[in-house]
Amino acid sequence: MITEQTKQVKTILRGNANRRTALRLFGGSCLAFAGLRLGVPESARAAALTREQRDALTPDQVIEMLKGGNERFRTGKMQAHDYLAQKRASAAGQYPAAAILSCIDSRAPAEIILDTGIGDTFNARVAGNIANDDIIGSLEFACAAAGAKVVLVMGHTACGAVKGAIDNVELAHLTALLDKIKPAVSATTFSGERAGKNADFVDAVAVTNVRRTVDEIRRHSSVLAGLEKQGKIKVVPSMYHLVGGRVEFFENT
Ligand SMILES: [Zn+2]
Repeated sequence: MITEQTKQVKTILRGNANRRTALRLFGGSCLAFAGLRLGVPESARAAALTREQRDALTPDQVIEMLKGGNERFRTGKMQAHDYLAQKRASAAGQYPAAAILSCIDSRAPAEIILDTGIGDTFNARVAGNIANDDIIGSLEFACAAAGAKVVLVMGHTACGAVKGAIDNVELAHLTALLDKIKPAVSATTFSGERAGKNADFVDAVAVTNVRRTVDEIRRHSSVLAGLEKQGKIKVVPSMYHLVGGRVEFFENT
């Protein structure tokens, strides 16, 4: 008779075997959040990251995994996710590899466009992907307390919050939020029309905004800046292109 404990051990062993297969197949560098089932593409992904798997990854490997997930998304080759199984696998503990700060825009759902599953990433979403004390505190929790290796700040093209900041929109509590984006407007070098109706300018400001957000995270969080100096995490600016679906990862300077 197979006990529940034996079943769990067998599941773990099977997982490790598949993980080794996946590492062999993908050169050990991009195990991807496809995780334990990478070598069996016809199966739905049922596993969540384990602590051992997450801790074995470097920040650069996590970035490669996120890039791989976006590649699957934009080429229509996303993993089949068994969310109920992932929910069961992660209920007792979470070991996410990354924390993503992105916009509330309905067209930029980070887990989908990066093809990640339950338990893979922390997600903070706020209009214009700005940083404030609460957001930075959340990222500190994700990295310093829960062990995430990457903070990905992800802006996107055609961002309404950025457009609103350019056009000096005022609306109740939104006004103060847009004020946090405005320094990116003045800091953007641009030769064309500097108006919200100019899509190129909106996107140029959005790039400045993600870079400024990354700077702000480093400047205001000695915890995250310290982890990055030690090589334990990387804070990375990026832009999601609504047309085409590509997440552009910028050089981490
Ligand atoms: Zn937006």
